[in-house]
Amino acid sequence: MNNFTETEERLALRKAVSDLGKKYGRDYFEQAAKHGRKTTELWQEAGKLGYLGVAVPEEFGGGGGDIGDLAAVCEELAAAGSPLLLMVVSPAIVGTIIAQYGTQEQKERWLPGLADGSSTFAFGITEPDAGSNSHKIITTAYRTDDGWRLQGGKTYISGVDEASHVLVVARTEDAKTGNLKPALFLVPTNAEGFTYTEIDMGLVSPEKQFTLFFDDVLLPADTLIGSEDAGIEQLFAGLNPERIMGASFATGTARLALAKATEYAKERQVWKAPIGSHQAIAHPLAESFIEIEMARLMTQKAAALYVSGDFMAAGEAANMAKYAAGEAVCNAVDRAIQTHGGNGLANEYGLVQMLAGSRLSRIAPVSREMVLNFIAQFSLGLPKSY
Ligand SMILES: Cc1cc2nc3c(=O)[nH]c(=O)nc-3n(C[C@H](O)[C@H](O)[C@H](O)COP(=O)(O)OP(=O)(O)OC[C@H]3O[C@@H](n4cnc5c(N)ncnc54)[C@H](O)[C@@H]3O)c2cc1C
Repeated sequence: MNNFTETEERLALRKAVSDLGKKYGRDYFEQAAKHGRKTTELWQEAGKLGYLGVAVPEEFGGGGGDIGDLAAVCEELAAAGSPLLLMVVSPAIVGTIIAQYGTQEQKERWLPGLADGSSTFAFGITEPDAGSNSHKIITTAYRTDDGWRLQGGKTYISGVDEASHVLVVARTEDAKTGNLKPALFLVPTNAEGFTYTEIDMGLVSPEKQFTLFFDDVLLPADTLIGSEDAGIEQLFAGLNPERIMGASFATGTARLALAKATEYAKERQVWKAPIGSHQAIAHPLAESFIEIEMARLMTQKAAALYVSGDFMAAGEAANMAKYAAGEAVCNAVDRAIQTHGGNGLANEYGLVQMLAGSRLSRIAPVSREMVLNFIAQFSLGLPKSY
């Protein structure tokens, strides 16, 4: 980023990705969701064109860019109506962690497939009883003679049915109590003892969520990513990109809702002029435009700080970006529906389907309340409230 404008390369990337997104578009996405299909063609094409691997180092088959580039890809696909939730997980969290902390062998083995989209990875930290309090996770890895034995479970894990592996956040047996000392394991989805069931969600998306069960899953030693002792640092190396991507996913969706609303407000006429001439319609849309731009700017700032290596400042900015984007998308979708009147709730206009997805941005990957807790405590120095 330079003088608050993106580089020519970034803008060209946005344009190319937007063209790909429009080639598929909202209809393709909704039909896939409705008929239980995946968005595999789009995923594969995005991979082949280098968009999924844009932030993977060149030596492992990627584009050598950074999280700002990957976030731009995520935003443009969402704005074109073809959001890919698994981008938030596979290239952003798992790709970043392997690229930064994997052994040379792990990088050579996993990154090329991740970059070209031929392998997809899910990520599992959330557990039913721990929820937002990750310190309470109980999934545990016990040492064996030649590796690990995993016991426990996860919930709300996206895309397990499309993934070859899940990057699982677990405790090690000697780190059972107190603050989380996590270790990260790349668990094959076909491992013996690993089962999963789909959660019946109200979201309109081809990407599904699952509850996972690990019943004495035996893992070779090389499934541990990075170091057993540096797990928390490794985890955060992946969670800040996740928040940046979550923000981009939301601002892209918000842009789509606002574009639909604006177009409709220019055309729909019930008195003597288009409804967009009434300030009650125009001002909320103008507010959304401002909110979206502010969220995008904060997302770019978070990405720039992350790239500069200032991880504390990046964490604060990534949380703020995620918060701002979550609010922006909820408002934009709600206002777009209101602008459409009754049509806002008709399937044909494609807005009512976006409602649950927009609410997701206030809940995951980190809820708005947990962001506010973080800002209150770390940015304002207020006492911890929980
Ligand atoms: C569609 C979808 C996809 C997901 N994909 C993944 C995935 O791929 N991998 C993964 O690991 N997880 C995933 N998640 C889980 C997601 O990250 C969690 O749902 C989220 O972190 C919130 O946790 P929870 O649902 O347990 O809510 P809870 O922790 O039970 O919280 C419930 C409510 O209480 C509030 N709350 C909790 N603690 C506090 C506090 N101290 N102060 C104030 N308010 C508080 C929360 O903000 C929330 O509003 C996904 C979730 C969804 C819905």
